[in-house]
Amino acid sequence: MEQNPLPENGSYYTSQKQLEEAAAIIKLDPAAYEILRRPLRELHITIPVKMDNGSTKIFDGFRVQHNDARGPNKGGIRFHPEETIDTVRALASWMTWKTAVMNIPLGGGKGGVICNPKTMSTAELERLSRAYIRQLGSFLGPEKDIPAPDVYTSPKIMGWMADEYSIMHGYNSFGVITGKPLALGGSAGRSDATARGGIYCVREAAGRLGMNLVGARTAIQGYGNVGSYAHKLAVELLGMKVIAVSDSSGSIYNPDGFIYESLMAHKIMTGAVKGFPGSAAISDKELLELDVAVLFPAALDSVITEANAADIRAKIIAELANGPTTPGADSILYNKGVYIIPDLLCNAGGVTVSYFEMVQNSYGYYWEEEEVHHRLEQKMKTAFLAMQQSSHAYKVHNRLAAYIVAVKRVAEAMKLRGWC
Ligand code: GLU
Repeated sequence: MEQNPLPENGSYYTSQKQLEEAAAIIKLDPAAYEILRRPLRELHITIPVKMDNGSTKIFDGFRVQHNDARGPNKGGIRFHPEETIDTVRALASWMTWKTAVMNIPLGGGKGGVICNPKTMSTAELERLSRAYIRQLGSFLGPEKDIPAPDVYTSPKIMGWMADEYSIMHGYNSFGVITGKPLALGGSAGRSDATARGGIYCVREAAGRLGMNLVGARTAIQGYGNVGSYAHKLAVELLGMKVIAVSDSSGSIYNPDGFIYESLMAHKIMTGAVKGFPGSAAISDKELLELDVAVLFPAALDSVITEANAADIRAKIIAELANGPTTPGADSILYNKGVYIIPDLLCNAGGVTVSYFEMVQNSYGYYWEEEEVHHRLEQKMKTAFLAMQQSSHAYKVHNRLAAYIVAVKRVAEAMKLRGWC
């Protein structure tokens, strides 16, 4: 494999570093390590799309299949102007570790298109989504690789994609994608699943740390689908007080705590959290450094870095985003005694309910929402315990502990399949 130096604040560097550390601790077989350092497959596609003004715009897209030793590749599709193949590679590998740490029979994949959905019409987005699926062709399938929503993609987009795939194959094949609208075979409880899984983890963590969360302060960086549901559920399930939130418009603060319904109504009406009545504007840096019980990074990667880690005052960092903390920041935080619930586990509620969606699609019988919540809670608790046990057994911090659980499971599957 090429040995070009990677930028130290990028997600690909982060994912490579994390694997390297885990592999060294468990003395991973060198062949297994070489397989896991890189994706098994990746497809780069050119996507021509007719725009509303009659012109044709050419988009670049990717789908990376990191590892399917334990089951078909699974992971979201991001529509983002700054998407890169390296980011998608990192995110695909994180999906492999996430599905393994949750012990669900899936591998890891990720897709991306370089585009800015905020400047595109609904019709243009629909044409792009359908064209992306057509270009991927036989790379996808319910038994091969199953996409889902991620940054700037939604259930509506999943519906178009499931339809396009079904048209291509001549029959309804909704199981090719998860995170679909309920009317197209989506699962109850999928929309808040990522946040809910993270909230269950925070409850487990607080229990172990002997912390009382009722009335405790929390800050949420990123108020999209995951961050806004984290607000709702932190209040509803844990009795916490959300004193600061942010989105791409900026950060806002209110020491008395925000009411979810009112803030959401404001965000839906104005498109931003900024300017919410009764709130003070603060900088994004100030939000991350607030004295809170729990900080939820719920947006993009690499926001907690060596530059700000020393100033972070949260007791728990619950990583709802993928890759929010760089390896340099990790050691600073662990030395300070901050309790990190790593992304592999903290945001795995989404893919876990996606797995439930696949199961329901394949046997054509759908569960009530309570059943989904109950099964998700069990899965999160079991995975949390596995991370704790690994942390004690290897005397390592949580992230490394979760990695060790995941890497061992994937390595075992590869060995049993005769790959190494
Ligand atoms: N995009 C989500 C993630 O990063 C969900 C993936 C899925 O449901 O497959 O975990």
